[in-house]
Amino acid sequence: MKSPQYTREIPQRYRLEAQKCKQCGKIHFPPRLICDACQSRDFEDVHLAGKGRVLTWTVIHVAPAKFDLEAPYVIAIVEMEEGVRLTCQVVDCNPEELALNAPVEMVFRRIQEDGQADIIQYGHKAVLQRE
Ligand SMILES: [Zn+2]
Repeated sequence: MKSPQYTREIPQRYRLEAQKCKQCGKIHFPPRLICDACQSRDFEDVHLAGKGRVLTWTVIHVAPAKFDLEAPYVIAIVEMEEGVRLTCQVVDCNPEELALNAPVEMVFRRIQEDGQADIIQYGHKAVLQRE
């Protein structure tokens, strides 16, 4: 059975869909019902361009069972060009390559498989941009 939370999050997970407040212009990701800046409920959908920079990161050496094969891996808080922050995995890099403000670009990847239900979940991960 598909998890209701996962299904609900598909627009964000698949398309980096965010919401822009029509009142004050603040962008929210994930979307919310009420703007925390001006209390408006009037939003329009916007797509994040997918470029950002690393604010902070950690290296996971002991992973939960379903991510065991991927360890060690990097989880970072990335600030997107639009100003929103998200937590994601940084792939295709050595942890030593990461630095504060390192530029990243979001890519669409497989996140996990739900073995019992045969569901493969997809979402975005960050790739380090090397100049
Ligand atoms: Zn607002």
